Amino acid sequence: MRNIVLFGPPGAGKGTQSEKLIEKYNLVHLSTGNLLRAQIADGTELGLKAKSFMDKGELVPDEVVIGMIDHKIKENPDAKGFIFDGFPRTVAQAAALDEIMQQNSLAISGMISLTVEEEELVQRLLKRAETSNRPDDQDESLIRNRITVYHEKTAPVAEYYQKQGKYCEVKGMGEIDEIFSSVCFQVDKY
Ligand code: AMP
Repeated sequence: MRNIVLFGPPGAGKGTQSEKLIEKYNLVHLSTGNLLRAQIADGTELGLKAKSFMDKGELVPDEVVIGMIDHKIKENPDAKGFIFDGFPRTVAQAAALDEIMQQNSLAISGMISLTVEEEELVQRLLKRAETSNRPDDQDESLIRNRITVYHEKTAPVAEYYQKQGKYCEVKGMGEIDEIFSSVCFQVDKY
């Protein structure tokens, strides 16, 4: 069973690579960003709460996303594996994920970190804004805030997996299919 954390800053290509991975390896895609946007679209209380953070480019409180992931893992007992996309985004989330996995007799196989230069991230997200309909893509200052939040709160999560010997990097610049080959090279090792 492969349980993969796909990691990287906003605009690194996590969503794009996840879509290709779930198809090739028959995995369940767990994107906290997508799950939160679905809650917003459904007008739930959780969605309303999350939106106030997302619209500012800030992180939603840990307990909200941890609860969602816990629920989704339990909802998929027959999964061949999971791709975690945009989660964990704090060290507290990473520790909670380990606990949830253990409770379900599962384990994270490894983290694959997509590396992309900062200016390229901003340009990609501004381009995505033209079609994504995401309020947090529309404004360059919001995009830059999300990247700052990534450096401050999310980057330390890489170290968490490094300490467990579960970390690797893939260059996330260039052609999508070339990046996918490099990602698959790592996935095949799990
Ligand atoms: P994403 O679609 O992964 O870029 O996430 C969009 C926004 O949703 C982020 O900027 C956060 O506000 C929120 N979000 C998504 N995943 C998480 C998470 N694991 N922890 C906290 N906030 C999250």
